[in-house]
Amino acid sequence: MRIAEIFQSIQGEGFLTGEPSVFVRTSGCPLRCRFCDTPYAAWKPEGEHLSVKEIAARTASFGLSHVVLTGGEPMIWKELVPLTEELKRLGRHLTIETSGIRYLPVVCDLMSISPKLSNSTPCADQAPRWARHHERLRHAPEVVRRLVQEYPYQIKFVVDAPEDCLEVEQYLRQFPEINRQRVLLMPQGTDRLSLAAKAQWLLPYCQQHGLHYCPRVHIELFGNVRGK
Ligand code: SF4
Repeated sequence: MRIAEIFQSIQGEGFLTGEPSVFVRTSGCPLRCRFCDTPYAAWKPEGEHLSVKEIAARTASFGLSHVVLTGGEPMIWKELVPLTEELKRLGRHLTIETSGIRYLPVVCDLMSISPKLSNSTPCADQAPRWARHHERLRHAPEVVRRLVQEYPYQIKFVVDAPEDCLEVEQYLRQFPEINRQRVLLMPQGTDRLSLAAKAQWLLPYCQQHGLHYCPRVHIELFGNVRGK
């Protein structure tokens, strides 16, 4: 499978925020989100092809218990199944970060699902083909339903404007099985100032509606720096 990078950092988003972790970033994603913060793993995928054994060995060299399999979209790689089995055999805690558009029978301790709202669609004027493709793929309810049923999960929405919160509520109405206590709303942004500005209205919204506000701690600590 193609790997853009393997690095050590702390988990910056979600219920495991602050956990020292090894990040394995797979390269390639069928979506092309307007605000994608890892273009080198989606819009312009790069990286080397590594075997399951090579990835497991590089991951083990950091000596951390928590491993985050992220992307790009890791669930497009069928080798993810034996990789998760091998990492679990080595005693690792596994988080998979996915947009929820593909299913694989992986081993996973926390399925972190980030369904894409309409705010993520690329600009139709600049990338008409990708805009159509994105709209066709981004909502895969049968996949999300299966992931939620089979794994411990969190659902993380990227929110860019106040009206996106209404779309989140519409989305959640389709999934009565999703526990609101497992839902996080995260501001869209890759710098401290824009995140702080959006927190002004998103944090109170979360408090009033029984949802979790999700800071992007790695951006606050390191900025939008690759490998952090
Ligand atoms: S799903 Fe994630 S990796 Fe893929 S384009 Fe969107 S933000 Fe980028």
